[in-house]
Amino acid sequence: MTSRRLTLIAIVLLALVWSFLPPFTVTLLNYIGLYSMVAVGLVLITGVGGMTSFGQAAFVGLGAYATAWICTSPQAQQALAALPPGLLPWLGLLLGLVVTALVAWGLGAVTLRLSGHYLPLGTIAWGLSLYYIFGNLEVLGGFTGITGVPALSIFGLDLASPRVLGILIWAVLLLGIWSLHNLLDSREGRAIRSLKTGRVMAESMGVDTAKQRIKLFVLAALLASVSGWLYAHLQRFINPTPFNINIGIEYLFMAVVGGSGHLWGAVLGATLITLLKEQLQDLLPKLLGASGNFEVIVFGLLMLLVLQRAADGLWPLLAGWTRRFMKPEPARRNAVAPAQLAQRTLPQPGEIVLAADDVTKRFSGLIANNAVNLTVKSGEVHALIGPNGAGKSTFFNMISGVDDPTSGSVKLMGQPMNGKPSRAFAALGLGRTFQHVRLLGQRSVLENVALGAHLRGHRGWVSAMLRLDRHEEAALLAEARRQIERCGLLEYIDTPAASLPLGQQRIVEIARALAGQPAVLLLDEPAAGLRHLEKQSLAALLAQLRAEGLAILVVEHDMEFVMNLADRVTVLEFGTVISTGTPVQVQADPRVMAAYLGGDIPEAGESA
Ligand code: ADP
Ligand code: MG
Repeated sequence: MTSRRLTLIAIVLLALVWSFLPPFTVTLLNYIGLYSMVAVGLVLITGVGGMTSFGQAAFVGLGAYATAWICTSPQAQQALAALPPGLLPWLGLLLGLVVTALVAWGLGAVTLRLSGHYLPLGTIAWGLSLYYIFGNLEVLGGFTGITGVPALSIFGLDLASPRVLGILIWAVLLLGIWSLHNLLDSREGRAIRSLKTGRVMAESMGVDTAKQRIKLFVLAALLASVSGWLYAHLQRFINPTPFNINIGIEYLFMAVVGGSGHLWGAVLGATLITLLKEQLQDLLPKLLGASGNFEVIVFGLLMLLVLQRAADGLWPLLAGWTRRFMKPEPARRNAVAPAQLAQRTLPQPGEIVLAADDVTKRFSGLIANNAVNLTVKSGEVHALIGPNGAGKSTFFNMISGVDDPTSGSVKLMGQPMNGKPSRAFAALGLGRTFQHVRLLGQRSVLENVALGAHLRGHRGWVSAMLRLDRHEEAALLAEARRQIERCGLLEYIDTPAASLPLGQQRIVEIARALAGQPAVLLLDEPAAGLRHLEKQSLAALLAQLRAEGLAILVVEHDMEFVMNLADRVTVLEFGTVISTGTPVQVQADPRVMAAYLGGDIPEAGESA
C-alpha cells in the first residue's frame, strides 16, 4: 500500500458512502471542503512561499459577493436580462475571479514588498478594510447582506441540495490539490520553494522571485475566491461576518495546525478546526456561563502547543506514522522522452567574458572594493586571493548582480550590466556559488541542482499544473543528474542537501551552477571544508571545465590549491588590488609577501 493508493481508496470510499451520510455530516464535510480550499492556498503562500496572510477571508468575500451581486442586484438583472438565469452564477464566478485577481495583484504589489512583520500587518489592514467595504456598500446589502442567492445548476442539473453541491465542492478541492501538487513538483515548483529562504540564491539561478511571489499570492486568493463562490450558492445568503478578520485568523490556524508546508495538511487542519469549533461552540458557553467566540482562545492555545511540539504542524506526524505500515512511493521512472534543452554556445577561448572596470564599493565609511580592475577569459582559471575582509566576496556580489557597485562598470559578454538584477547575469551565462552555502536544506540534492537549470526550461505554471511539462522536466532532471554525477555526488542524489557535510554542500552548489550551462563560473571558497583527496578531484574537475572553455574565477584560501590550478592570480588587500599576474609572478611580488606577513604562500607544486 502506498500513500497515493491510500488517498485514492479514501476518495472512492467517501464517494461510495456519500449518499448514505446523515445530512449533518454532509454539511460538515461541505464546510470542511470549503475551508480546505482557502487553507490550501495559505499553505502555498505561508508554508511554501514564506508569506504570512491574515487576510484570506476577504478574498473569500470577494468571490461570494461577486456572484451574489450578479445573481440578485436589479442593475445586473437589467443588464443581463437576455441571458438564461442558470448562467448568472457562472458569470458570478468569472467576475469573482477577475475582481479577486485584480485586487490581489494590487494588494500584493504594495504589501509583498514589505519585509518582516510588516507583511502580516499589511494583510490585517486589507482584511479589515475589505470587510468594512462589504459592510458599508449599499449595493451589497450593508451588514444585513444579500438574500435570495440562487442555487447552482450545471447543464440543467440542479445543485440546490447540499448533498449534490458537496460533490462539486470536493471535486474542485481534490482537483485543486492535484494540480498544486503538480505545480510544486516542477521547474516552477522548485522556484516557488526557494521563495521562503533562498531568494538571493534563486535570483542568481535566473528566477524572478518578486514575480513568483505575486503569482503565488494571486493563486491563493483565487482559491479563496472559488471557495466564496461555492459558499454563496451553498448558503444562499451572505453577509460580511464570515469574511472578517477573525475568520482570516482561523484560516491561518488551519494551515499552521495542519502543517503549513504540506497541501494535505490544509485539509487536516480544516477538518480539526471545524470539528473542534463545532464542539467548543456548544461546550464553552456552558462551561463559562457566557456567550462569545471563546473558541478563538482555544485555537490560539492549540496553535502555540502545536508550534511548540511539532513546528511543521500535525501532517508530518500523521504521515510519519502511516509510513510505518506503508511502502514508500516507488521512485518515478522517467517514462517520458526528455525534451531538448536550450544549449549555450561558449565564447572562443581567450575571449574576455567578464570585465570589471574600476569597481568601487563603499559601505558607509568603509571602502570594501577600491577601483578594482579584473578580467576573466574563456578557458582560464583566474584566482582572487587576499586576507579575510579584503573584499573578495563583496567583489563577487558586484560582478554577479547581487549588489551594485558605488562606481565603476561591470561587463558580461561585452554587455554593460550595472543596475541589472542577478537573474540577468544568469541569463547571459554566469553561474556562481556562495561562500555561505545557500541550498534548500530539506530538498534533495537532485532538486537543488535542477534549480540551477531553471533558465534552460520555459514551461510555466499552467502547463506544470496540468502536467504538460513532463518532457521538459525529464530533460531538466536528467541534466541535473549528469552534473551531480560529474561532481561525484551521485550516491547522494536523493539525500536532503542539509544532511551532507559542508564541504560537499559546496560541491552541490558547483553542480547547481553547472546545470545552468554557464560560460563564466564564480566560485567563492569552493575547497573550504574538503579533505585532501576531495580537493584533488575538485581541482581535476575545474581543470576539465577550463579545458571545455569555461571562464572560472575562484576565491580560495588554500594557496596550494590556487597556485597549482590558476592561470592568473589577483591579490586584494583592504579592497585594493596589490598584485596581479601568473602564480609565479605573484608569489615573487614583495607586496604580496608583506600582505601575507612574509611567506605563508607556498611555492606552486611544493607539496602537490
Ligand atoms: P572577504 O570575502 O575578502 O573576506 P568581504 O567582501 O566579505 O571580504 O568583506 C570586505 C569588507 O566589507 C569587510 O570589512 C566587511 O566587514 C565589509 N562588508 C561586507 N559586506 C558588508 C555590508 N553588507 N555592510 C557593511 N560592511 C560590509
Ligand atoms: Mg569572503
